[in-house]
Amino acid sequence: MTHTLYLLLGANLGERKVTLEKALEAVRIDVGPVLKQSAIYETAAWGNTDQPSFLNQVLKVLTVLGPEEVLEKTQAIENRLGRVRRDRWGSRVIDIDLLYADDLVLETERLTVPHPFLHWRRFTLVPLAEVAPDFVHPVLRKTTRELLADCDDTSEVVRY
Ligand code: ATP
Ligand code: CA
Ligand code: CA
Repeated sequence: MTHTLYLLLGANLGERKVTLEKALEAVRIDVGPVLKQSAIYETAAWGNTDQPSFLNQVLKVLTVLGPEEVLEKTQAIENRLGRVRRDRWGSRVIDIDLLYADDLVLETERLTVPHPFLHWRRFTLVPLAEVAPDFVHPVLRKTTRELLADCDDTSEVVRY
C-alpha cells in the first residue's frame, strides 16, 4: 500500500537553500520518491517576527510508510541536519511538517493530519498550490486554490 504525502520544508538558519537540498535528498532516501517539488519561497518569520526569514518548499512524496513512521523519519532527518529543539516557532535549521497523507484525517498526541495550521499560512499554501492546486482538504472540503483565496494571512511569499 503506497501513500501520497505532502511535506513542507522550512529553514531559517545557516545555509538555508543547501539545507533544503539536503532535506529533499534525505526524504528521498528515508521516506520515498519525490514526485514533485515546488519552487523555493521566502517569507518573513511568522508568529515570532524578530528572527531571520524562512525559505519554504513543498514536496509531493510517495511512501510505503504509515504516518507515524513518516513523522519518525522526518524528525530524525531534522535532528541529523542539526535542528536543536527550542521553543515552538523559534528559529531552526530545518522544519519538516506533514501537511497531508492521502485524505487521511488523524489526531493523536504526536501527530495531527492534515496539519492544523496549513490553511492559515500563505507560506504553506503558496508552494502547496504549485504542486497540488486541486487537492481537496479532507476536512475543510476546499481545494488548495480555494484555501489560498480564503486565507487572511497577508504576509508576502516571494519566489526565491
Ligand atoms: P507548527 O506545527 O505550528 O508548524 P512547529 O513546526 O514549529 O510548529 P515543532 O516544534 O516542529 O512545531 O513540532 C512540534 C510537534 O508537533 C512535533 O513534536 C510533532 O509531534 C507534532 N506534530 C503534530 N502534527 C504534526 C504534523 N502534521 N507534522 C509534523 N509535526 C506534527
Ligand atoms: Ca512548522
Ligand atoms: Ca514541525
